[in-house]
Amino acid sequence: MRPWKLALASTLVLVACHAPRPGASSDTAPPAAQSTTELVAGDQPRVATPVGEAQDAPQLAPTVDDDLERALAFALNDDRTIELLSVLCDEHAPRLTGSRKADAACEWARSQFESWGLDARLETWGMAAARFDRGPSHGRVLGAEPLELDFMTAAWTVGTEGVQRGPARLEPRDQAALDALGVDGLRGAWMVRVDERMDGAWRKRLEQLYEETRPRGLLRAGAKSGLLVMSGDFRAQARGTRPTVRVRFDQHEELVRRLRAGTAVELEFLIDNRFEDGPVPCANVVADIVGAEFPDEYVIVQGHLDTWDGAEGAQDNGTGVATTMEAARVLAQSGVQPRRTIRFVLYTGEEQGLFGSQGYVRDHADELPRTSIVLNHDGGGTFLAGLDATFAMLPDMEPLAERLRALDPRYGFELREVEGLRNSGDSDHAPFIAAGVPAFFWRQSERDYTFVHHTQNDTFINTPLDEVRHSSKVVLLSALHFANLDRLLDRTDMEPLPRRMLGVRLGEDATIQRVERDGRGAAAGLLVGDRVLQLDGAQVADRADLVERLQKGGAQKSCVVSRGETRLELVLDWSGDPDELRRAERAARRAQGAIQRGVELKPASAVGR
Ligand SMILES: [Zn+2]
Repeated sequence: MRPWKLALASTLVLVACHAPRPGASSDTAPPAAQSTTELVAGDQPRVATPVGEAQDAPQLAPTVDDDLERALAFALNDDRTIELLSVLCDEHAPRLTGSRKADAACEWARSQFESWGLDARLETWGMAAARFDRGPSHGRVLGAEPLELDFMTAAWTVGTEGVQRGPARLEPRDQAALDALGVDGLRGAWMVRVDERMDGAWRKRLEQLYEETRPRGLLRAGAKSGLLVMSGDFRAQARGTRPTVRVRFDQHEELVRRLRAGTAVELEFLIDNRFEDGPVPCANVVADIVGAEFPDEYVIVQGHLDTWDGAEGAQDNGTGVATTMEAARVLAQSGVQPRRTIRFVLYTGEEQGLFGSQGYVRDHADELPRTSIVLNHDGGGTFLAGLDATFAMLPDMEPLAERLRALDPRYGFELREVEGLRNSGDSDHAPFIAAGVPAFFWRQSERDYTFVHHTQNDTFINTPLDEVRHSSKVVLLSALHFANLDRLLDRTDMEPLPRRMLGVRLGEDATIQRVERDGRGAAAGLLVGDRVLQLDGAQVADRADLVERLQKGGAQKSCVVSRGETRLELVLDWSGDPDELRRAERAARRAQGAIQRGVELKPASAVGR
């Protein structure tokens, strides 16, 4: 899937921690000056602190907490998050990778960063074979019963040569249907596909006939949900010779109904899909607020600027761009200077396979050991609701989580301990995890995600603006928090260990459906039909619960199963497994850490993202 292989080993990189800055830790710093704002959770600040007026506060040495509150007060008093989002949606949409619009959006973002005083630049990550942009388009049924059509064509595919009118014809499903229509009936027609599971040989035959008879294009149904899902093949750039048009499901049904009733249907389409030969350089936007103390250490805040191109890309990923840019603006204009460099990165090529972020990881390899954390906002418009953390990261993340929970009573914030940062591979944090950098995809509610994601509904008016405003504060405070820590984020035990496998196929209710010959289940004596009831004395609810419980605790587990009318107790044993030694060492480090910090150990979730 990826055109460039990472030249980086995905080994865990351990980074020496910096000694705390004298006087910077909270127990040695002088008492904080009275906060510049007295924020009650959810209230607007009573007094915002304009830039330059902080000097009027009592002359006590500022602490990093003061910086957080100062930046927050500035953000609450002068919030431009939604303004940024609306410019993106109104003036720079869509932003398909390699398109003129995407280039203009990159340049706009770069110049915005620059106007706020950041060191901003475009960094080319690769070349697109061709440009693709969409001009005006429309489609309609003509005649006595006119109908404006909602439709979509894939990116990097051919449109029409100007306005194209022609009769609609049902695509023949077999030779008899073709005979009834006559081969000449295909010429200049808009073919309407009814049977998506047509026999392969017959489809091939039709394709041949289409090459000879040149119908104007092919109409296919969109998803049953009414969604028009955007797609396109960036690498193949298979333009095709005639357009394939996805028509909204109910409208497609209506066309088929009319045609089956024998009604003549005349269609008109204008689909102005524009190509320009490449190569076209594709770039990320990179902007820095240089750290006062550790300028060559980085906290990365990021989203992707590119979109699919049938809507505005408001939530995928306009919201991530807006929160990233707003955090940059506020930090730059509030006069708060972070200890380490905060780098704001807006990628392109995300939708086609994380090309921009892979390019970044390739081109900034030397900085990755000094990159403390990557915060990737690409989960849509719902508020940023949490982060994963390994045990070693918790001490540096808990104070932040507490501050974020107090921001607004409508929005919680949850820190979830995970046993390692698993790589879900589906957004721009993934190449960083693969390279051993702590990189996070914010946890967000998936409410409305399917309705919006890559569909015609990804527009400004469908975006929950209040939540996005909140998210930009979460991004801002988090970036500053991590940039101001005494050390880089702790990478100990960040790489997930291989999971314990049973070597069986499990039904939903934890019933054994198949037993592999050399697996742990076979060794323990599990048989097909056994149902796992208990593990280490705890009831097993279902398959997912069993799989999760297997990962926890010691390498030997007692397991109660029902077999017919009887109950049996078996022992599952991984103790000979080389991974178990590492697992035990980790558990010991975790227990030791808990004692040192005086906290109670709770079970960590085995699944990170
Ligand atoms: Zn996205």
